[in-house]
Amino acid sequence: CGVFAIWGDPEAAVKAYWGTFSLQHRGQESAGIAVLDQGQIHVQKGMGLLQEAVKIKDLAHQPGQVALGHVRYSTTGASEAMNAQPLMMHTRFGPLALAHNGNLVNHRALRERLAQEGSIFQGTSDSEVLAHLIAKSTRPTLDQALSEALAQLEGGFAFGVLAGEALYGARDPWGLRPLVIGRTPAGAWVLASETCALDMVDAIWLRDVEPGEMVRIDEHGIMSERYRPPAETHACAFEVIYFSRPDSLWQGRSMHLKRRELGRQLAEEAPQAADVVVGVPDSSLPAAMGYAETSGIPFDFGLVKNRYIARTFIAPNRDHRESAVRLKLSAVKEVVAGRRVVLVDDSLVRGTTSRYIIQLLRQAGAKEVHMRIASPPYRDPCHYGIDTSRAGELAARNLSVDELADMVGADSLAYLSVAGLKRALGQEGWCLACFGQGYPVPVEQEVQHGG
Ligand code: 5GP
Ligand code: SF4
Ligand code: MG
Repeated sequence: CGVFAIWGDPEAAVKAYWGTFSLQHRGQESAGIAVLDQGQIHVQKGMGLLQEAVKIKDLAHQPGQVALGHVRYSTTGASEAMNAQPLMMHTRFGPLALAHNGNLVNHRALRERLAQEGSIFQGTSDSEVLAHLIAKSTRPTLDQALSEALAQLEGGFAFGVLAGEALYGARDPWGLRPLVIGRTPAGAWVLASETCALDMVDAIWLRDVEPGEMVRIDEHGIMSERYRPPAETHACAFEVIYFSRPDSLWQGRSMHLKRRELGRQLAEEAPQAADVVVGVPDSSLPAAMGYAETSGIPFDFGLVKNRYIARTFIAPNRDHRESAVRLKLSAVKEVVAGRRVVLVDDSLVRGTTSRYIIQLLRQAGAKEVHMRIASPPYRDPCHYGIDTSRAGELAARNLSVDELADMVGADSLAYLSVAGLKRALGQEGWCLACFGQGYPVPVEQEVQHGG
């Protein structure tokens, strides 16, 4: 999911729309914008893309200096209107709107406890748990209630909370999910899942919200509080590999450059004699360029993407996913016919995409197809907010690399190693749980899948 918030801008509603729009790649199931105007919060939200869910012309007439936006793909909780965010609620602290990116690994235990204590849940999303924890808190101020509530959450999360007097942002103690702070030249404060959303409203990146930190923004400026001591940092490596937009920065360095580095490392580790390097658009193109640079094999556009279709993994079931891939990609004969192709993809999750693409390339006349994956085998499901696949669907979990090569129909298949991934990422402090490196936050037994 994606979260965007702005405080202190006369066009807050419209700016929130733009900022949230630039995070559309982070979720396409539902979207919404909440605007604070004279102590009242007005929410527009619905299913689908932001432009389907919210009409910008309605926002243009919406007064208010503070707004919060959200785009969602479901991890916990069904894909339905009830779960669309921002969530609105009325508490003894007044109205609150809440937007969440991530997945709470202890949401079941919390939900059961809250339900036993009499809480009534409207939807099935785990974000509602925070709302109830705030409402239940006996602490006298919203700041205290919020930090008490946040301290009970386990897993990956970034929250934006809009209240009558202030805007809050918080990030999980492990730093799994991202949240950055920016400021516009006119002095408005911005919170966003990625820096590309800061660019959208001309805000300058100031810093990231720290793991375990809650910030409060109001007319006096920004205040920081540790609601929980930070744990050892485990930032999501998959944000770099695939999820974030390439023009977003990660601690000052562009995602695009990091992806190119992944491709360079891959070429060092898994060289292959070939005539052309082709990337799977769009997310793999930087890695394919990096592979081409290091190997000296020319890069070309052997696959074309239909831009009018959402990311395949968003489609909630397998049938849809397969037809979505078919609609989405086609091969350029002139680039691949009669040639040995190195096909670079950023990740291989279920293998559905790869199998179909290799078939496409062969139909277009490719002589050989050597698949190279710019990340290590994806073996374990994510429980912290990225993937919706269950363990059983993860191709690398049950098959060896050779069996996988057979399954996808490649002449050869190789992955980037975990060591190579770490080299490309640079500094320490990454979550690599989906690559078989262990879960930094223990996962509830009954949670079968993550996301
Ligand atoms: P699959 O192997 O499941 O058919 O799809 C892998 C492709 O989906 C890769 O091209 C990759 O860009 C994209 N992808 C990246 N992240 C995810 C994810 O979290 N889930 C799924 N299913 N696909 C993803
Ligand atoms: Fe990211 Fe993988 Fe960790 Fe999930 S398990 S937070 S996808 S690195
Ligand atoms: Mg892809």
